[in-house]
Formats: sequence, structure tokens, C-alpha cells
Amino acid sequence: MPNTVFWFRRDLRLTDNPALLAAVSAAADDGVLALFVLDPMPLRAAGGPRVSHLVRSLRALDESLGGALLIRYGDPVEEVPRVAAAIGAEEVHIAADYGPYGRGRDQQVEKALTGHGVTLHRTGSPYAVAPGRVRKSDDSPYRVFTPYSKAWAAHGWRAPVAAPRAVSWLPAHDSAGPPSVPDLPDVDLPDAGEDAARERLSAFLDGPIRDYATERNRPDREGTSGLSVHLKYGELHPRTILAELARHRGVGADTLRNELCWRDFYADVLFHRPESLWESLDARVGGIRTDSGPRADERFTAWASGHTGYPIVDAGMRQLRAIGWMHNRVRMITASFLVKDLHLPWQRGAAYFLDRLVDGDYASNNHNWQWVAGTGTDAAPYVRVFNPVTQGKKFDPDGAYVRRWVPELAGVGGGAVHEPWTLPKPPDGYPKPIVDHAAERRETLARFDEVRA
Ligand SMILES: Cc1cc2nc3c(=O)[nH]c(=O)nc-3n(C[C@H](O)[C@H](O)[C@H](O)COP(=O)(O)OP(=O)(O)OC[C@H]3O[C@@H](n4cnc5c(N)ncnc54)[C@H](O)[C@@H]3O)c2cc1C
Repeated sequence: MPNTVFWFRRDLRLTDNPALLAAVSAAADDGVLALFVLDPMPLRAAGGPRVSHLVRSLRALDESLGGALLIRYGDPVEEVPRVAAAIGAEEVHIAADYGPYGRGRDQQVEKALTGHGVTLHRTGSPYAVAPGRVRKSDDSPYRVFTPYSKAWAAHGWRAPVAAPRAVSWLPAHDSAGPPSVPDLPDVDLPDAGEDAARERLSAFLDGPIRDYATERNRPDREGTSGLSVHLKYGELHPRTILAELARHRGVGADTLRNELCWRDFYADVLFHRPESLWESLDARVGGIRTDSGPRADERFTAWASGHTGYPIVDAGMRQLRAIGWMHNRVRMITASFLVKDLHLPWQRGAAYFLDRLVDGDYASNNHNWQWVAGTGTDAAPYVRVFNPVTQGKKFDPDGAYVRRWVPELAGVGGGAVHEPWTLPKPPDGYPKPIVDHAAERRETLARFDEVRA
């Protein structure tokens, strides 16, 4: 067999990478060319934290390949066939991409390759169960999480595979090399690469997993896995985590398995409804009145910069700016505040999150935003409006999370930090609430009534 190309995309790892094994096995005694194409289209859409992580992850991958990663800039539709032709490859191997952009791009690349007599082979995906695989008995897709999760668990997933051994990597002649890491002096991002991902997983399984079921809702504790960014770039496959969880029985392991199912579920929803990226799944609720104009813009800026006067919201938004990540509970609270207290479209908040999150993922992000906005797959019959004060008191009871991220409130002790306006002497420099939550909640309910009438 002649040389083959392995085109890395959202699978920046060597272990548990079935598509890479397929490329190595197809090459037999010949060489494998490791390729990554920096496609300007998605790169332009990614914010600084994501670009930074990608670049650092590519460097780690290149190192583990002994410098054999060929990096090209440009449109994959042109670059992939060009690289395949240069080494006389007859096969290009990839893990399938199920997102709307990636799927369309791969079809075009496949067409271009076919024109050159080269075949594109897809093996596996970035998910435990590939989108489109789990369906109802009438072959239609699931629209609601709980029945999907039952079918997902019953479907199961393959066991992880080892890294390929003794691969003859072809030299990366003419590699552009990884670009320079964007300068983000004020953002403290996690380590990148397969080793960092595995270390993070081990650290989580060595301790926090035991209390994950209860602690995962507490932003004041280090109770979650922190694996989202590694999953985003495929430095770790969810199947690897699921295999480890099978050895860690208990409610913590069950809860984490369920969270990984949410990730697969939202990818499945996007696969069946690609328009749901930016269009409300429930068009009726999606048609709710939203605010625009200078006052709405001012409110958006207050929200984005963490100056709404609601401490848990401001702490979350400042955590996002500082480390490119926000705790899940606080993502829900801040998203709800934008949509239900400020009456701004969920798409505006989703776009901001995608720009700032290091784990920013279209399927998970935009469908979680739809869940919060009430326009998504959520089966709840009532209008869910998070109260930022009661949420703060419940999930950050001592106020430690708020004090950590909002220095103006560092001197306020205990849970009183969630209502600084009730203190005899409100702290200097911290804004008063920009809206009255009770009044905005009533306004939201009225607007829901309008669209449901
Ligand atoms: C408004 C909003 C926006 C979000 N945007 C993103 C995003 O862009 N990228 C992203 O990966 N997650 C997103 N999430 C889901 C969730 O907040 C993050 O996955 C989680 O906070 C990541 O931290 P962790 O890895 O420590 O989570 P853990 O609690 O340790 O969870 C383990 C893994 O399960 C998956 N997971 C957990 N919760 C969810 C969920 N609700 N939906 C989908 N997958 C989940 C993630 O892959 C996560 O890494 C969003 C949630 C909300 C409410």
C-alpha cells in the first residue's frame, strides 16, 4: 500500500483514536503523513482563548509526533488533495465531523479527493455514540433528553483502543508550523495537549469523582472535572472517560456519565436540526419580544463585563473573562439573567460565550442557551426564570465564589454578599442592581403569555 494521510481535526491525540489506527493499518509498511489544516473560516470565528488552546495543543501533538505534524494554512478543499498528491497517497483518514460546517466541508474535500483518485475514510467521531445513531423505534430522532439517555446507555459504545505502535511518520516538509500563541495576558488558561488531559482525568478520578453528584453544582468548590476543553479538542475521547467510569462505580460516576450523555445529545440534536445553531427550536417561543437599542446595548455591556449589580452574575462573567471557563450552574444563572432579566436574544449571549469560552462548542453552547431561553428541547411546561439571589445563596452559601471573582465585595462576609444592597453600608465601587429582578420576571412571564396566546 502507498503512503496514507491522517488528517487531524477535533482529535488531537494518539491514544484511543480509531481513525488514526485505520490510517496506520492502511499504510502497512509505508508511511503516514500527519496533517492539520488551519482553516481560516472556523479560525476567524473562534475567540482568543480557543485559538490559544488549539495552538498549544498542536504544539503538544507535534512534539509527540517527533516534529512530524504537517501544518498547512488554507482551505482544506484545496490543501488536503494537494498534500495527498504530493506523497502519492491513495487514502486520507479522518474521524467524522457531524457539525453543519464540518460535514459540508468534508463532503467537498471528499469530492475533490475523488477527482484525484483518492478516497476519504471516516472512522469514529468525537462522541461516545455518533450523532444520528440513537433513534426511536420508528427511526425518528429523540427530541427529549431523558428517553434519549436511556436509549444511549442501552446502545453502548466501543472499548477504547491503544495508540498505534511503530508508525513510520513521513517528514513534515514545508510545514508552516503552529502559529504563535495569541497574547492574552489577562486570561489564565488550562494546559493543553493529550498528557494534560489525561492528568486532569486521573486527578479527577482520584478524588473529586466521589462527591461529584453533590459538589458539581457548587461554584465555590473544585467539584467538576474540568474536562470540557480537552473533549472539545479531542485531547481525550469521551469513550476513554466512560471506560474509566465503569471502574469507578457509584453515584459520582453515574452522574458524570449522564453529563457526557448531554454532550452527545446536543450533538445529535444539531445533526438532525442544523438550523438550530442560531434558530430557536421552538419557533413560537423564539418569536418572543426582545429588547434592542442603546439601553439594551448598555445592559449587554454591563452583563458581559460583570457589572450588573447581581453578585453571582458578575462573578460568573468575570470568571469567564479571567480563565475562559465558567462553572455550569453559573452559566445557567448568567444566561438566564441575559434572556429573562435583560430581555436580550439568547443568540447574543451564545455568541459572546463562544468568543470567550476556551471550551466553546457550538452544539453544547447554543443548545444550552436554548434550554435556558425555553426555546430548546426542554420539556418543562412552565417558564423557568432563575432568581440570581436565591441561586447564589443556595449554590454559593458562604459567598466564597463571589468574593473570589468580585474584589469590590471581598470585604463582605458570608451569604450577605449576594444582596449587597441590603447592607447598612453597601460596598464602595460595586454597582446597584441594573434591573429589579421581580419586575423583570413579571415582564418575562407577560412576554411568554403573548407568544403562547
Ligand atoms: C449557557 C451554557 C453554555 C454552555 N456552553 C458550553 C460550551 O460551549 N462547551 C461545553 O463543553 N459545554 C458547555 N456548557 C455545558 C457545561 O456548562 C460545561 O460542559 C461544563 O461546565 C464544563 O465543565 P466541566 O468539564 O468541569 O464539567 P463536568 O461537570 O465535569 O462535566 C463533564 C463533561 O460533561 C459534559 N457536560 C456537562 N454538562 C453539560 C451540559 N449541560 N451540556 C453538554 N455537555 C455537558 C461536558 O463535556 C463536560 O466536560 C454550557 C452550559 C450552559 C448552561
